[in-house]
Amino acid sequence: MGHHHQDILNRVECWRDRLSTVEKTGYGSYSGQAEKKHRRRKIRIMNITTDLSEALKRIEELEHELEVSNGLLKDRDALLNAIPLCPAHGLCFPHALEWIEQVKTLSRIISGL
Ligand SMILES: [Zn+2]
Repeated sequence: MGHHHQDILNRVECWRDRLSTVEKTGYGSYSGQAEKKHRRRKIRIMNITTDLSEALKRIEELEHELEVSNGLLKDRDALLNAIPLCPAHGLCFPHALEWIEQVKTLSRIISGL
């Protein structure tokens, strides 16, 4: 998990701690109204924590997927860079396939097959 994500989770965790400290020390002079307000706030923060964890998990997944995609693109570019560029498009897959077909034909002619 990235530092940034961990920082966000730590801050939410800190809020949860503060809320539970209020609970442990008792509501004391809290009126019933204030206690109700506190409980509502707590539920909200618990929900935020859950949503946030889910969101951060999804971000981690997407970052991983992106890494994989970038790896594939790098492989693709390396392959395209290994052959002459397409006159019209530069790095171009249809051109690459056509070029390989021509080389295969040429190789058949050279080897007399
Ligand atoms: Zn092309």
